[in-house]
Amino acid sequence: MDFKISDELESMRKMAYDFAVKNIKPTMEEDEKEHKYRPEYLKKMGDQGMFACLAPEKFGGLELEEGNMAATLMAMEVARVSPSWGLPFNLQMNGPQNVLLKYGSEELKEQFLPGLIAGTSGGCFAITEPNSGSDVASMKTTAVEVDDGFILNGTKTWISGVPYCGCGVVYAMTDKAAKHKGMSAFFIDFNAPGVVQRAITTKLGLHCAPTGEIFFEEAKIPKTALLGKLGQGFAICMTMLNFTRLSSAARAVGVAQSCIEEACKYSNEREQFGQAIGQFQMIQEQIGRMSVEHEASKLLLLRAAWQKDQGMNNTLETSMAKYFCAESANFCASEAVKIFGSYGFSSEYPVERFYRDAKSYQIVEGTSNVQKMIIAQFALGYRKA
Ligand SMILES: Cc1cc2nc3c(=O)[nH]c(=O)nc-3n(C[C@H](O)[C@H](O)[C@H](O)COP(=O)(O)OP(=O)(O)OC[C@H]3O[C@@H](n4cnc5c(N)ncnc54)[C@H](O)[C@@H]3O)c2cc1C
Repeated sequence: MDFKISDELESMRKMAYDFAVKNIKPTMEEDEKEHKYRPEYLKKMGDQGMFACLAPEKFGGLELEEGNMAATLMAMEVARVSPSWGLPFNLQMNGPQNVLLKYGSEELKEQFLPGLIAGTSGGCFAITEPNSGSDVASMKTTAVEVDDGFILNGTKTWISGVPYCGCGVVYAMTDKAAKHKGMSAFFIDFNAPGVVQRAITTKLGLHCAPTGEIFFEEAKIPKTALLGKLGQGFAICMTMLNFTRLSSAARAVGVAQSCIEEACKYSNEREQFGQAIGQFQMIQEQIGRMSVEHEASKLLLLRAAWQKDQGMNNTLETSMAKYFCAESANFCASEAVKIFGSYGFSSEYPVERFYRDAKSYQIVEGTSNVQKMIIAQFALGYRKA
């Protein structure tokens, strides 16, 4: 496999990095401190075609042959500057668009894809509930079918993009007794009566990326909101996670890269005992390990993106990439903080922020334990592709 990316992909990668430096970086530190989200950045990213990789032209997309690779590279580059602003790739594209394209009616696609692609309507996917995390099928939110639609009741929590979402994929039980076979997926306009969004303001990191709760109180949605068939929600959710995990892994790789860049720069500048700290073998050991972990995680990531563009079913390889990229980002961030000494503990330097933001990658889209479980199930022969 040739790991050289095409000129087109390289120009998209570069465009995304330059965009983030020019548009996001100038206000980033201030916004992080104030926990400020700027919807206008979402629109600007949409204008650049950043959320257009997968969908066909008739909906405003570009439907690139190497769409998953393009999305991966761009998410990586934006997260390299701002992990908070790397997140919308998942919320506008990898999550909602994949389910709409695979399971949505033409009507749903026409209604929601253009806004998601343009960044004028914030997207999300809502699985997690206060008492249902890794055990997705234990969710309590219900959708009861009535003559002219469904009535939703329940609470979703830790949903990225909330409270600024215009729409999103919501998973709910339509037949509780059937457990995971009784889950269904809906694409919902969040302006529907009975849908209330509320911000979570107690986060460790990702301060410019909103996260919140969604309350469904007798929320009435049309029958046409159903994705796929009744009872297909669990399968749709697993398919979706297989794409959102790729994006999470991409962002983790971007963070690791920045941590290495920052650590090398600092190691060449900071002097102790009469020489740059980069001259010390123990610092070199740290940077050497960080570099290899990062390179290995990047290769796992790019392989998974490439496989998706070939139309391959790559649950195992995506979980491997998601797990290893998350762990390696945390390793690189932790080592970078150590290399910076007390300045690594200071919010004056970016590695402190990367250290906090990187934790999210071990939790979202299935924790590191969940990824290891999937990987081991394949290794043990309990699960096949
Ligand atoms: C910043 C952020 C953004 C998020 N965005 C979204 C979003 O957009 N949409 C959404 O639906 N959710 C989102 N989440 C929620 C996230 O997906 C869940 O937090 C995650 O799936 C874990 O669920 P939990 O927190 O309930 O942990 P739990 O499932 O309660 O797990 C607690 C601990 O037990 C471990 N554990 C659980 N089961 C097993 C097992 N079988 N074997 C071994 N260990 C196990 C876990 O690894 C973890 O360490 C987000 C979370 C964060 C922090």
